[in-house]
Amino acid sequence: MILRLPWRVITQFRRSNKFEAIRWCSSCEQPPARQRRPATSKPSQPQKDLYLDHRRIGQEQDLYMINELTPGSIFFLPHGTRIYNRLLEFMRAQLRGFGFDEVVSPIIYRKTLWQISGHWDKYKDDMYKVSDRSDGTDVGEDDDYGLKPMNCPGHCLIFDSTLRSYNDLPIRFADFSPLHRNEAKGALTGLTRVRRFHQDDGHIFCTPDQVEQEIKNSLQLVDNVYSAFRVPSYRLLLSTRPEKFIGALEEWDKAENDLRNVLEQSEVPWEINDGDGAFYGPKIDILIKDSNGKEHQAATIQLDFQLPRRFNLKYKGADGKDDHRPVLIHRAVFGSVERFLAIVIEQHQGRWPLWLNPRQLMIIPISHAQSEFAHAQQEIISGNASDKKKLFSFMAEPLFVDVDERPETLGHRMREAIKKGYNYVAVVGPKESSKNVLAIRNLSDQSNKTTEYSAAEVRDLIIGKMNTFE
Ligand code: ZN
Repeated sequence: MILRLPWRVITQFRRSNKFEAIRWCSSCEQPPARQRRPATSKPSQPQKDLYLDHRRIGQEQDLYMINELTPGSIFFLPHGTRIYNRLLEFMRAQLRGFGFDEVVSPIIYRKTLWQISGHWDKYKDDMYKVSDRSDGTDVGEDDDYGLKPMNCPGHCLIFDSTLRSYNDLPIRFADFSPLHRNEAKGALTGLTRVRRFHQDDGHIFCTPDQVEQEIKNSLQLVDNVYSAFRVPSYRLLLSTRPEKFIGALEEWDKAENDLRNVLEQSEVPWEINDGDGAFYGPKIDILIKDSNGKEHQAATIQLDFQLPRRFNLKYKGADGKDDHRPVLIHRAVFGSVERFLAIVIEQHQGRWPLWLNPRQLMIIPISHAQSEFAHAQQEIISGNASDKKKLFSFMAEPLFVDVDERPETLGHRMREAIKKGYNYVAVVGPKESSKNVLAIRNLSDQSNKTTEYSAAEVRDLIIGKMNTFE
């Protein structure tokens, strides 16, 4: 089943100001998110009156909640967590394919780290500070810590933990750590403007000669991911050297030339945003165009000459000298996973494609007599064996299968399954149980047609479709 519902604007793309871009690295920057609410939007087609905001769908489908005791931090409920985890599993698989090594890095760091990275002096108000216990035993230690708003400084520490050779590069770190930014309380909105979030964050440390290939790979990854999410179209924006910049002119020229070469080779439309790069490096912003023709920023790929300098990162070159400076590339495809999830929720309007659906199959036994049979089918299809004396395999792909055996009419239970957004429903009666099959109905198919399958066949069918992101 492929849902081709239009992409909606939930954010407005704000052209990043070159000085504003100093604030956080571009790929780590919390995109400015301004919620477009149905009440204030101007739909150009009648059905858009039915357009549901992600917060409404999130509530109806029990995906997430927020509590005043921790404003701006999301509690993902079980069904929301299923989708969230699926997004991460999906991205982990892509990143492995592109040579990233996932790391798990600390959340709090001494203020010294933020002084080195440059954030403490200018932007500490946007960071959460944490105090160490001051028992006087660590005289001279700095007791102030900050919760990380981004992963790059931590990744610089990993890079710098050992002597790197040009043979080791590129080194690509992926990180899904929680990040915290002290957003103004009044600005917090659903999943799009939050204080705690996660990113599909990645940092590539490479030689200047490797930049072109790494950018090429990053754009290919973006294209692959967008095709899985059925993004109708997008374009690329190259932001070049601003008036105030750091680094050598020839360094910039080479980097911009590399980016231009890659963009020229790509089949995606692109433009130059002259002079709008960050002071520490040029960048490529990826702008998604939705069905209304509006754009919003999604992924970014950012070159950085600054952090490697601030952290004094070096590698040993082919010439035997160990004072070569790596180039750092920040990149994220989802950006904030929470915000991306909001986009996906609104894109699908709660009608999930099979591979993302936290509710894939509902089995409805006609009467209590088929209850045991229904649960046996659920066990086979979901992959959740009931024998608790055995270890459960972590290799088994869990599928989301429920049984509705409430004493309600068949029609009522069927309607509820449709309302909750199941992809498939299987009604089992005496005929099915005697034949040991399930009559499967695809709820996106208007014909009400059912097809008989064994439980093992249903499992294979669902896994097969998930493998092609249907
Ligand atoms: Zn970064």
